[in-house]
Amino acid sequence: MTKYNPVNEEVLDALRAIVGAEFVKNDAETLERYKTDEEPDARYHHLPEVVVLPGSTEEVAAIMKLANKYLVPVTPRSAGTSVSCGAIAVCGGIVLLLERMDKIIEMNTEAMYMVVEAGARTVEIQKLANDAGLLYAGDPCSADSCLIGGNIATNAGGNKAVRYGTTRHQVYSIEVVTPTGEIVELGNRLKKCSTGYCLDQLVMGSEGTLGIITKATLKLLPLCPYRLDILAIFTDVQKAVDLVPALIKAGLNPTSVEFMDNGFVRVASDYAELRLPHYEDGSYVIVTVETFNEDELDMKMEQLDEICTACGATDVVEADERVWKVRRSCLEGSKALSKVSTSDDLVVPVDKIAVCLNHLMEESKKYDFECMCLAHAGDGNLHFNVLKMDMSDEEWEKQVSEFHKICYAYVYSIGGRLSGEHGIGAKKLHALAEYCNPVEMSIMKTIKRAMDPNNVLNPGKLIDAEI
Ligand SMILES: Cc1cc2nc3c(=O)[nH]c(=O)nc-3n(C[C@H](O)[C@H](O)[C@H](O)COP(=O)(O)OP(=O)(O)OC[C@H]3O[C@@H](n4cnc5c(N)ncnc54)[C@H](O)[C@@H]3O)c2cc1C
Repeated sequence: MTKYNPVNEEVLDALRAIVGAEFVKNDAETLERYKTDEEPDARYHHLPEVVVLPGSTEEVAAIMKLANKYLVPVTPRSAGTSVSCGAIAVCGGIVLLLERMDKIIEMNTEAMYMVVEAGARTVEIQKLANDAGLLYAGDPCSADSCLIGGNIATNAGGNKAVRYGTTRHQVYSIEVVTPTGEIVELGNRLKKCSTGYCLDQLVMGSEGTLGIITKATLKLLPLCPYRLDILAIFTDVQKAVDLVPALIKAGLNPTSVEFMDNGFVRVASDYAELRLPHYEDGSYVIVTVETFNEDELDMKMEQLDEICTACGATDVVEADERVWKVRRSCLEGSKALSKVSTSDDLVVPVDKIAVCLNHLMEESKKYDFECMCLAHAGDGNLHFNVLKMDMSDEEWEKQVSEFHKICYAYVYSIGGRLSGEHGIGAKKLHALAEYCNPVEMSIMKTIKRAMDPNNVLNPGKLIDAEI
């Protein structure tokens, strides 16, 4: 285990010399603010020793050189909406906050791309593209607050991934500061390329363990002018999830296919103060279809109605913003039911989503906690939310840990993986070590050691490179 050095006065002075004294913060209030991300469980919290806000790529590079020289760990951080403890400085040291680097550098509507700094807010990027009649297709549900660098680092998914893919599919190239402080542009603005290893794709999704993303060239797409949202309501959960492969096979190319079980329907509707049909007993599937012409939309609307009815939907209604309000209220709604909860992010082949949902919901009934399921169903990506009810802390921890073990073993047995979009972070590091193929794990460690020989960049995340 690396023995890191403390951030002493010498390091602080060197940091001040790089970014300016006002951007080096180590007062108690700031350190307290950055001891966690979205993680509510205090067992995972860890105070950084200093929070540094660089203003340029060169400053980020200088900070990484300094971290190697003094052997101080660095945790890159964007908006801190990570739900896998990714942005927590689990080994202390420097939190490197990218929010100052928030410029939109270039918007090219002819060639359809946008160059942004890593701290640009995702919602601003989406809005700017839309205002120009274009689409930036990355759309995590946290888009209002998260930053593009955080999205690229985690390969964020979200509501539109079923049609457009995840964040890595929206990126032409990234500017990266390597763990040893070199600056490099990875990827390029090409439609195809067979020229060497695909290093941009390696860094994207590496959760800030292989490099700090400082800039990105993003792909823009034509914006579909026609859109339809439907809400298909099922009183039989099995039938609701069976709808997913049927939609995909029909070639409807939906933009979103979101599933909420009845537990989530209730808590989210209560939180949003909205009652949609079958609040008491329905599971919801929200399907969005977008087209470039009106006739195609009408045709798809008919097709959708037929497929949903054939799959056993109790009701199929044209949906409006209220449905999305309910969908967006899921997490907050579940917090209103229990202050202590944990959300998991699993991914399975799309054709296995029904069997997985049924199996794990049945398993969850053996425990005293409450379990609810939400899914980016079109991607095979399931979020099981487990809520502490009337039980002791010890019992809660024991039962959640047992349930997670059952979930992880099961998803691997059907070809799934530990995370579809939230990443491994610090939270699932041990689980990945347990379930990952040993050869794959060994390759990942070899890459990490080669790129970060002093293990200073985001240690304690994704893999433990030292064992
Ligand atoms: C309400 C809510 C809804 C969410 N919905 C979704 C969803 O639909 N889909 C989804 O995928 N996720 C979702 N998330 C999780 C989270 O928003 C995403 O992981 C998001 O991409 C994190 O962005 P961020 O700017 O907050 O990054 P942070 O949380 O600050 O960082 C995330 C990880 O990336 C690293 N990192 C951050 N910036 C950089 C950088 N510039 N270079 C290198 N590494 C970096 C950090 O060290 C950390 O490991 C949701 C979270 C919440 C709270």
